[in-house]
Amino acid sequence: MTQNSKTVSEAEIAVIGGGLVGSATAYGLAQRGARVLVLDEGDIAYRASRGNFALVWVQSKGLGMSEYAAWTKTSAEQWSTLAKSLRDETDIDVAHHQPGGFMLCLSEAELEARINAMRRLHNQPRMVQYPYEILDHDETKRRLPAIGPDVVGSVFCPLDGHVNSLRLFRALHLAMARSGVSYRPNSHVESIKPDRDGFLIDGPWGQVRVQKVVLAAGLGNARLGPMVGLHAPVRPSKGQVIVTEKAAPFLHHPIVTVRQTDEGGVMIGDSQEDLGFDTVVTPPVISLMAQRAVRMFPLLAGLNVVRTWSALRVMSPDGFPIYDQSQSYPGAFVVTCHSGVTLAANHALTLAHHILEGTLPASLEAFSSRRFHVSSAA
Ligand SMILES: Cc1cc2nc3c(=O)[nH]c(=O)nc-3n(C[C@H](O)[C@H](O)[C@H](O)COP(=O)(O)OP(=O)(O)OC[C@H]3O[C@@H](n4cnc5c(N)ncnc54)[C@H](O)[C@@H]3O)c2cc1C
Repeated sequence: MTQNSKTVSEAEIAVIGGGLVGSATAYGLAQRGARVLVLDEGDIAYRASRGNFALVWVQSKGLGMSEYAAWTKTSAEQWSTLAKSLRDETDIDVAHHQPGGFMLCLSEAELEARINAMRRLHNQPRMVQYPYEILDHDETKRRLPAIGPDVVGSVFCPLDGHVNSLRLFRALHLAMARSGVSYRPNSHVESIKPDRDGFLIDGPWGQVRVQKVVLAAGLGNARLGPMVGLHAPVRPSKGQVIVTEKAAPFLHHPIVTVRQTDEGGVMIGDSQEDLGFDTVVTPPVISLMAQRAVRMFPLLAGLNVVRTWSALRVMSPDGFPIYDQSQSYPGAFVVTCHSGVTLAANHALTLAHHILEGTLPASLEAFSSRRFHVSSAA
């Protein structure tokens, strides 16, 4: 293949996508001494990383894949290390707090369903053990005094936490830069071609040659994967979020759908809608979310809403992450998930190491997209 005159080889690894997943992975790679280039499409892209709910959430994760529960738990456990490393590198406090989180139930049927789901989760073969408690109204009220009478009970897990998501995004980008990552915004990757000892990556901005490529392009991975023998059949799942004006601190634990941020605003989230690439905010969904939140915490009725938005989650067919190295073109990896905040610690502190080593360990085999071939052949 002839080399285009604009071809440069300024890095050994290119990470495509500078969202939470790409930036956490790139940061981890650079921390281990790799020369990394991040190519990021820019503001025209769908960016889950700018619209999420900011939970570092463990309970309820992994029903159907116990490896995911274990992976999530490890990430939650490593989160303080990531937060400290980001603070040391950038002076940014990402407001990581892990006081334990609640799932509040507004009817006996909801509580029963939640308890059953937790039992099924924990009864799975090879399920990692962690504590959780089922609480009635009175005990929930004792721990969360602001709840209303409609809350019949809750499930509490001490591993759950949250962060300031926008500050996390900012800190990751600054930490990448300080670790020597070269970040190129407005760099849409059009094609990736396996080439001699690596890959030739092309876009309207030019061309680069690298030894390894990591696809971390969120919803863009579905198109890019097949270029290097990878399969990432991700689709959008819309989530709408409400944020209120700032209030005096009243909620010291994250609830899966309500959390008070470190700055005082209350976030209410987040719907799960299968509507393709649709990002319209819809009043009926927003008002349903608000009504449920007010039943949980009646004082929310007195707060003004300052903003609503929607963003698209990056969802695989079974909802679990996809981590894979191409069998036909080793050196090409895909990293994609719908819980990029929770898993940021694993991506930076664990996965980056394996990518650099050039092998994904057996413990990550469950996340290969080969699982989709098996189920579609069955
Ligand atoms: C409403 C909502 C609530 C959420 N709540 C939580 C939560 O509480 N906790 C949690 O852990 N996670 C949560 N998430 C998920 C989390 O935000 C995502 O997992 C994470 O943002 C995904 O990051 P990403 O980098 O894979 O994707 P994105 O943020 O979508 O980033 C992908 C990047 O790739 C770039 N790109 C795409 N195609 C190309 C291309 N061809 N060339 C170059 N660049 C390209 C884009 O520019 C973009 O910057 C939530 C998501 C949503 C939408």
